[in-house]
Amino acid sequence: MEPDRATIWPYDARGEPGRFYYSRYAHPAGAAAEERLGALEGGDALLYSSGMGAETTVILALARPGATIALAEGAYWGTSVLMRDLARWGLQLVEYDQTGAPPAADIVWVEAPANPVLTVPDWDALRAHPGLVVCDATMSTPVYLRALDEGADVVVHSATKYLCGHHDALLGATVTRDPEQTGRLLELRGRAGLQSAPDAAASLLRGLDTLEERMRRATASASELARRLAEHDAVERVRYPGFSGVISFDVADPRAVETRTKLIVNATSLGGETSTMESRHRWEGNRIPRGLLRLSVGQEDMEELWKDLEQALA
Ligand code: PLP
Repeated sequence: MEPDRATIWPYDARGEPGRFYYSRYAHPAGAAAEERLGALEGGDALLYSSGMGAETTVILALARPGATIALAEGAYWGTSVLMRDLARWGLQLVEYDQTGAPPAADIVWVEAPANPVLTVPDWDALRAHPGLVVCDATMSTPVYLRALDEGADVVVHSATKYLCGHHDALLGATVTRDPEQTGRLLELRGRAGLQSAPDAAASLLRGLDTLEERMRRATASASELARRLAEHDAVERVRYPGFSGVISFDVADPRAVETRTKLIVNATSLGGETSTMESRHRWEGNRIPRGLLRLSVGQEDMEELWKDLEQALA
């Protein structure tokens, strides 16, 4: 269905604004998608122009000036770059191993699992931490994790990935339970102009219709591919958390392997119905192993994906 793309809606007969009056604040497709995502996560969802838009809003709305953020090591590279940039505004960044206890910090920012090193956070340690706990659940989705139930205060998504699921929409989301935090996020989103586009929100509504099936199929294929990759002579190490569709594996010459695949697209991003693979070293440098390839397993036939990987590794 075509979303309502209007930017304005008329005031009522008394001259009062209704629920929708200017799309930077709210629009019908966004509100409908927020309601559905919120129900899946068990909180109040808000949509943004991108995952990074959601992250920026969380930091600007919820961090105090000079706040320390403890970020999971090996979490999405763009997140660490954003936080480093915000050092100009007094933000202090420390990175820590999220499989153990976080250090003293105002905000602990974990990723479940971390992209691309695929570690998972220690929830017992997070629950014992006094700071605000933000969990980027992009790779788990609510199919595998309801982070608010685990103890997170704020859930962040790059909905660009699994939630929309078709490599055709840029979208971010937050989910919160505390009405005051939700209110601050909503206010900053509107003021800073980080609202989602109606078409991207419509893409989320479509993506949520098939989310569970896509996640289960990607997990089944990725589990088997991870097992086979671990037995392959050209593969040095495999990381796979046991759920979702992303596998990271190390080879001697990642550029040679990524450029040889035919079915798997040599491109960035993850979580789409089309499988993608890339060397992360081109972006992240020595922050991650030089030989690491990140494979996002899509909805294709698993045996066809294995054939493609085998010929690329030969
Ligand atoms: N969080 C994770 C785990 C990601 O992988 C990404 C993008 O790759 C982002 C956040 C940023 O999202 P977006 O590209 O939608 O801005």
